[in-house]
Amino acid sequence: MNKLILIVEDEDILREIVKDYLLDEGYKVLEATDGNEALAIFEEYQVHLIILDIMLPELDGWSVCRRIRKHSDVPIIMLTARSDEDDTLLGFELGADDYVTKPYSPPILLARVKRLIDSRYSREDKFSNEDSLSGNGIQIHFPSHLVKVDGVDINLTHTEFEILAYLMQNPGIIITREQLIIKIWGYEFDGDDRTINSHIRNLRHKLGDKANSIVTVIRVGYKFEGRA
Ligand code: CA
Repeated sequence: MNKLILIVEDEDILREIVKDYLLDEGYKVLEATDGNEALAIFEEYQVHLIILDIMLPELDGWSVCRRIRKHSDVPIIMLTARSDEDDTLLGFELGADDYVTKPYSPPILLARVKRLIDSRYSREDKFSNEDSLSGNGIQIHFPSHLVKVDGVDINLTHTEFEILAYLMQNPGIIITREQLIIKIWGYEFDGDDRTINSHIRNLRHKLGDKANSIVTVIRVGYKFEGRA
């Protein structure tokens, strides 16, 4: 499966150059030109790696990194404007996996991307026991966020994956909406129950024949029904 990479960079020319290199290597690419757009795209798609510039309009790269790390360990490469040691240290403290100093050569950036992708996802086809869960014909793999239904890949958004994973980690146990909200959005969640309902609806739709694996417990929450 071709990996999906999100490039967050407001300078069009730089973004285009990196994009061309990644496409040439067979990666799929999404682009964001500011921090808020980056977070929205990350929420919407199952992104495998993020190339994240620090200097961005709206929300800077530090803030984007910090927010993503609250609930995801997706590989992040930060682009720092100068070889400033403090910048680099802050990047690692916030959970970036690697950094590249501007101006950089695109082949070097590409090599870093490949290295991170290979180390994170090379085992995904093996679906080893400690990294994966299965039940009712649904298989999920935590390091890659890959999900299969009856052996066929399906594409979930980040939130849908988190919901499914949490329910499958607690088979047969009722998970309240509040538990889901805290697990997935943290205490800063400002939506309402309809947000959860719509994610569940989309998730069930993607599970197809296995939609009934997620059982609604009226006025309480949801549970996963299914045997390994
Ligand atoms: Ca920039």
